Amino acid sequence: MERVLVIAGFDPSGGAGVLMDVKMFALLGIKAASVPTALTVQSSKIFHSWVSLEKALFEKMLKCTLEDLPISGVKIGMLGVSELVNVIAFYLKKYRGQLKWVVYDPVLRATLKKDLFEGSSFLENVKRELLPVVDYITPNCREAEVFAERAIEKAEDWEEVAKSFYSFGVKRVIIKGVREKGRVYTYYFEEGRKKIIYSVPEIPLEFHGTGCAFSSLFLGYLIKGWEAKVALKKAINRLYPLLKRASLEANKEGLTLIF
Ligand code: PLP
Repeated sequence: MERVLVIAGFDPSGGAGVLMDVKMFALLGIKAASVPTALTVQSSKIFHSWVSLEKALFEKMLKCTLEDLPISGVKIGMLGVSELVNVIAFYLKKYRGQLKWVVYDPVLRATLKKDLFEGSSFLENVKRELLPVVDYITPNCREAEVFAERAIEKAEDWEEVAKSFYSFGVKRVIIKGVREKGRVYTYYFEEGRKKIIYSVPEIPLEFHGTGCAFSSLFLGYLIKGWEAKVALKKAINRLYPLLKRASLEANKEGLTLIF
């Protein structure tokens, strides 16, 4: 059976981060191990603070897990601090031969309005060390703008954003959550190929954990053997009913995809 590794922050509410990711893999019948990068203090409604795992401890956990289990896919989410980025890049390179797919969801800010990284060298280090060793990056609009260092004004600008990512070394870029005229668009760019666009009707609420859930489902379908454009469509189709249901329960449950 395929097995994935989630490297992400720990959200005790279960709405995002490693708990959400592992739940998504379980939904697809995929076993998931996880190594947390950071511990966050948050509820389904308020984000208080976070603290990074100490580098030596994080490295021991990562090494121990990779040596133990036959991991074939890696999902990376919140990284927090620059020094963990180097550790992850080192182990991804070391295990690249056995890893079918590495998906990086470049989480920079919690939906509950708190930055999830620190340090002036963080972004540069991610670009230099991590992006060349991942297969897919799945930024939302804001994350894409931050990485590409440009504001997006019109639909054609996404092409230029994708090219910036290619120049950082990651050749497949999924930009998610582009809201326009009542629909939400997902753009898939791959260097040398025509772009693919999917859209669904907009749900007028922003759920904590949606990005995590999407990227995990996408990796899950890749690991199950679907080609990227099918995996993408399947991930969107799997997530959308969850969002619709969560929007009906939003008064009871807050803006969290709890299930
Ligand atoms: N990872 C962790 C640990 C988080 O706490 C959060 C948001 O609070 C995220 C990721 C980002 O979640 P999303 O972008 O899916 O809302």
